[in-house]
Amino acid sequence: MKVLVATEKPFAASAVEGIKKEVEAAGHELVLLEKYTEKARLLAAVKDADALIVRSDKVDVEVFDAAKQLKIVVRAGAGYDNIDLAAATAHHVVAENTPGQNSNAVAELVFGLLVFAVRNFYNGKSGSELKGKRLGILAFGNVGRNVARIAKGFGMEVCAYDAFCPTAAIETAGVRACASVDELFRSSDIVSLHIPATPETLKSIDYRTVNLLPKGGILINTARKEVINEPELLKLLAERTDLKYITDIKPDADVDFQQFEGRYFSTPKKMGAQTAEANINAGIAAAKQINAFFADGCTTYQVNK
Ligand code: NAD
Repeated sequence: MKVLVATEKPFAASAVEGIKKEVEAAGHELVLLEKYTEKARLLAAVKDADALIVRSDKVDVEVFDAAKQLKIVVRAGAGYDNIDLAAATAHHVVAENTPGQNSNAVAELVFGLLVFAVRNFYNGKSGSELKGKRLGILAFGNVGRNVARIAKGFGMEVCAYDAFCPTAAIETAGVRACASVDELFRSSDIVSLHIPATPETLKSIDYRTVNLLPKGGILINTARKEVINEPELLKLLAERTDLKYITDIKPDADVDFQQFEGRYFSTPKKMGAQTAEANINAGIAAAKQINAFFADGCTTYQVNK
């Protein structure tokens, strides 16, 4: 089988080496398309691929139309909103992600950003500590759980809300389960977003919700920019000068957010999963999942069921 790795932003060299080793050990052929800038190159490369590994690359209906042999596409990472799932299903292609492989990387970044935020972006003025602060985790998935683990090390009080994770699973992790998003915002000094971008979560973090944060509240987003209602958050930041917004995903309205100097910070580019470990883990997991799929039809991580 031909396994195509198509990455506009390539994997680390050691990750490619690991993927190649996995794929070839299973008797498949690895083809690399890296740093491509024109979609035509992807459309040409995918023509005879049986499997496709991508990072944030867009896999839309045009790509599926061109990929006549394609049986499986794996997004090396957690979020898979770059893959058109309906088109995958219509073309009888299994779509998978590699959950959990970059979650520690994202969780560590949350705390890098939070210390920066409570110390006033290192502006020389006295700040505050995370110890004793109440942290609300919105979505208790792979990243959310790692955030909870690290938060306890900081001595924070941790609560979480997840629409699908059973309360018992949250409580077993030693975290207080909130009954609703509203309760989470109302009872947290800091809310950390870990919801995926879905039709339900789109723009769901709005004026009303964020306004539930108590005085001095901080909203931190390492999930997706699409979950934020940007015009409403801008309005709220203008009205409530006590709030801070910290994000790993530059908003569309970044220029407007920049007026809130000292209360707004965005990483220059998405940094959450940018560690050597996450890069290697996700790439190799993708290769292993493809091998398992061809060996025995395993679809454990299928997201277009
Ligand atoms: P995950 O799939 O392990 O967890 C997602 C959780 O969200 C699940 O527990 C699910 O039950 C919950 N959920 C889904 N819809 C919900 C809703 N409407 N309300 C409340 N909870 C809901 O994913 P993860 O690995 O924890 O990653 C979370 C998100 O973080 C990803 O979807 C991705 O968008 C983002 N992410 C960002 C980076 C980055 O570089 N900043 C890296 C990895 C992931």
